[in-house]
Order: sequence, then C-alpha cells, then structure tokens
Amino acid sequence: AMSFPSDIEIAQINEHDNMKNINEIANKIGLTPDDIEPYGHYKAKFSGRSITKSMEKDDGKLILVTSINPTPAGEGKSTVAIGLADSLQSIGKKTVLALREPSLGPVMGMKGGATGGGYAQVVPMEDINLHFTGDMHALTCAVNTLAALIDNHIHQGNQLNIDPRRIVWKRALDINDRALRNTVVGLGGPFNSMPREEHFEIIVASELMAVLCLAQDIDDLKERISSILIAYTFDKKPIFVRDLHVEGAITVLLKDALKPNLVQTLENTPAIIHGGPFANIAHGCNSILATKLAMKLGDYAVTEAGFGADLGGEKFMDIVAPRLSHAPNAIVIVATIRALKYNGGQALSDIQNEDLNALNLGFKNLKRHIHNMRYYHVPVVVAINKFATDTDNEIKLLTSLCDELGVDVQLAEIHHEGSKGGQALAKAVVKATEKESQYTRLYEDEETTEAKIATIASEVYGANNVEYSKKARNQLQTLKDNAWDDLPICIAKTQYSLSDDPKRLGSPKDFTLHVTDIVPKLGAGFVVVLTGNIMTMPGLPKKPAALNMDVDNEGTIGGLF
Ligand code: ADP
Repeated sequence: AMSFPSDIEIAQINEHDNMKNINEIANKIGLTPDDIEPYGHYKAKFSGRSITKSMEKDDGKLILVTSINPTPAGEGKSTVAIGLADSLQSIGKKTVLALREPSLGPVMGMKGGATGGGYAQVVPMEDINLHFTGDMHALTCAVNTLAALIDNHIHQGNQLNIDPRRIVWKRALDINDRALRNTVVGLGGPFNSMPREEHFEIIVASELMAVLCLAQDIDDLKERISSILIAYTFDKKPIFVRDLHVEGAITVLLKDALKPNLVQTLENTPAIIHGGPFANIAHGCNSILATKLAMKLGDYAVTEAGFGADLGGEKFMDIVAPRLSHAPNAIVIVATIRALKYNGGQALSDIQNEDLNALNLGFKNLKRHIHNMRYYHVPVVVAINKFATDTDNEIKLLTSLCDELGVDVQLAEIHHEGSKGGQALAKAVVKATEKESQYTRLYEDEETTEAKIATIASEVYGANNVEYSKKARNQLQTLKDNAWDDLPICIAKTQYSLSDDPKRLGSPKDFTLHVTDIVPKLGAGFVVVLTGNIMTMPGLPKKPAALNMDVDNEGTIGGLF
C-alpha cells in the first residue's frame, strides 16, 4: 500500500494547483481589494478601516474547538478545527476560521507546526509556520525594546529608583532556548549598563503577546501597554510602562501586528490567523480581533483553544468569552482513540494496537472534560479524530461510552478525506448551536485570588488541595497590598495531565495542585499562576524537528512535518 503523504507534501501540491489569490478569498466574505493589505499573493492583513467597518455587522454563531489531554504528538485539534470549517462550508454554511499563529519554538522543536494536517490544513503552510507576516518578529522586537529602555533608564541615573533585582519584565525570543532561562546582562564595566540577573521567555509566553491578543483597537493596545508592570523600586513600589513614557513607542512597533491576517484552507475557506499564546504557559487563544472578525464575517465562526479543555478551553470560557459580544454557541471536544488509550495506561510504543481495556479506562479523561465543559451551560459535541489505526471495535466502544453520557459524538475523517469526512460532524455542530445555551462563568473576578484558584483546581482539575510556595504566598500578599486581586486567573500547567504532574494521566483524584509563583500581568488584565514544574522558556528535545528540514535551490522546503 502507498503510504499517506506528509502534511507538507499535501500542502505543496495544493498550493500549486488550488490556492486562490487572497483577493478572491476576501471577496467570499464581502471584502474588496481595498479592505485588505496583501503580503504577496496569498496572505493579507485586514486594513484598519475594514476592521472598523466589519465590527458594525451582526454576529454569527461561534464554535469553540478544544480537546482531551493530548499525547506528546498532539491530538489533531487544529486539524479538526480546520476540517470542521471546511465541512461547514461544504454543507453550504458561510464559515470563517480563526486560529493562532504558530511559534517557531515547537516548529523547530518537537510538537510541530499549527497549520493542521492531512487534507485539513491552512495554506501557504510553510509561510504560516515560519515568518508569516512578521507578527512574531514585531512582538519580539517590542518586548526587547522595552527591556532595553528599562536598562537604559537605570544606566542613565535611575530617576525612578528601580531596583535592578526586582525587574519583572523579561526579554523574549521565538526560540526554545533553555540556555537563556537564567542569565546575567550588563557585564563589562560602567559603560555597559548595570549588571543584573535576566531571564528570557519564549515570545508566546510574554505578556505583550497576551496584550496583543486581548486588545480591541490601537487605543486599547496602548492603554494596556501603559499598564504593564515592569519592576519595583527599592522601597517596593510598582513601576509601570507609563512611568517610563514609552507606551507610544512600543505601540508604534505593534501597529501592523495588531491587524489580523487572512489566509485560506486547502478548500479555500477563509481563515483568520492571528496571535499565538501557548495554553500551557499563557492564555492559549488567538486574538480577540480575529475571533470577532470571524463572527462578523461568517454565519459560523470556528476557533480553537490550545491544548486540552482544562487549559485553553477553561481560559477561553473564563478570560476571553466575557470580552466577546457573546460566548460560544457550541463546544467541540476533540478526542482520539490513541490519546484515550494512552490516558488509560497503554504505552506510546504500543498505541497502534487495539486495546479496549485501556480505552475504557482512559475514557475517564474525556468524561472529565465533558463534565467540565458542560459546567458552562453551552452544548457540547465530541469529535473522534479518526486515525488509520483505530479499529471498528474501538470506535464502537467509544461511541457507546459517549452515548451513555448523553453527549452527541461524531466520527471525523477529515484528516484523510477533507470536508466530506466531516459533514456528519458539521451537521451535529449546527444542530448544537441551535440548542439553548446559558453561558455561566466558573468564577467571578471579584472573588479573592485564592478562591478563584481553588475553584479552578477543584472544579476543573479535580484537585482536593492547593499548596502555595513561600514565593507564591508573598505574591498573594503583594496582590492584596496593591489591590490587584480582582483579575481573572490564567494558570500555567502541564498539558499532559489534569494535575500539575505530567505522569498522572486519566482523571486523577485526591491530589494537590502546587502553586510555585504568581505573576500579575496588569496589561493583559489577568494573574498568571505557575504550577508544578512548568517553565515559560521551553527547551529543545534530543532530536529536534530542525534535523529533518531542508530547502532546495528553487526555494522548496522539505521536512516541515
Ligand atoms: P493539535 O492541534 O491537537 O496540537 P494538530 O492538529 O496540530 O494537533 O495535529 C498534530 C499532527 O497530527 C499533525 O501533523 C497532523 O497531521 C497529525 N494528525 C492529526 N490528525 C490526524 C489523523 N486523524 N490521522 C493522522 N495524523 C493526524
């Protein structure tokens, strides 16, 4: 048998034969060539004027795609989100997709890109996965410009009395670079700034990424940037970007990055790809502007939240949804038989073999996520992302386990078949969006930080206890002292488990959530709570994906998944 082509092989054939000029894609959603700013023939940004104009339209239905806890390879959440959008389009629904921009960290590292797979991809996939329209670079530049301005302020006499040991703003790169997690800057004597400890983050974890993703327009972006906490003084008073008077300069650097990007799927469905915070260390959703545009320009908008429903899903519902005109009308939970068996104890090396017992055990993980998403009182549909190795017995068992819970379940074969493999799912999702929903939040912002953390830990993760490190306790006090207590919570946690321990699979019970640090992100408007051993600068694996990549003399890239 011929082996199934790789993602990049499928994408490259399509890019050659079927990809439409971006003006044609814009036209599908009622935009003229004046409404977009093309970056080449197949990518464009929305013009400022077309964003404003679009916002006056009525909202379509919003569909949120999330998933169970994944295996290290990912569970095909982006693939299903893209395939679902194509399937909706193929049954005659005007659909617009909103997704995150890939980060080069996982592209070069281990998880791969974020442009889907098989016959459900967004294109041009090489561009989107690499430099795209430069948003990541603009953000990186802005983050490091702010860092340089802080160090320069200290070097030039430190009028604000900033304590160099208490600078909280970190430099950032879009690279998994563990060597830069902890470093020293300013060595070399008095002409080379003040020596101090510095820490790099990956750009997708930086507060500026969250700020870009939550800003509603340039004024809001500037206001949020001016509110970013950058340091404390020697007498522990907070210093903000506004104290340095550089919010204007930082906003200038992000003027174009704020505009969402328009591309297309393999089946020419319009896709808005913008902003890319990771869900394990940040809030995990594409920009609010992208989601809003998708809702305004489509009768159906499909968006995705990173990693499982415990991370991106919860953050979408508690941080993002209150900032949209309405909450999702339906939630799709992507499950794979592989990942459920992995959650049920089957070894990864064995995962292609039928194991009904492991599937039965691992189903607990899906059950927990269904329970969690039902909490928000929005209709839930389960999509089984079909892999070639799934057996009929396994599919039958999983379907009947879902039936027992009274949740609608559909097999999605979009990876191998494109939209025609997802029409049943699309119809089920349309039906779900027509049901009554009564969006309910998990917590109120006015509750204390500890109460909010306790609610997420017990209601979403299933923990029975939360333990705070000394550093985290001190931070709780700082939040109280400064009246920063009424913000939503953004938990940084491993994506592999509902707990903070990546090895505890399934649906763990009676465990303690370990809070190691708490970081107020006042520009983003949330509090980041770090748990377990999670770090905001990932490292590269022993065999990074970079080893497979190459480009020929014509500029054709190979080995990008
Ligand atoms: P996630 O969004 O959950 O991280 P992705 O959609 O990015 O996952 O998919 C991760 C990888 O898995 C991609 O390379 C994709 O081609 C592959 N994949 C997804 N679904 C399937 C499937 N049904 N069969 C085979 N490979 C798949």
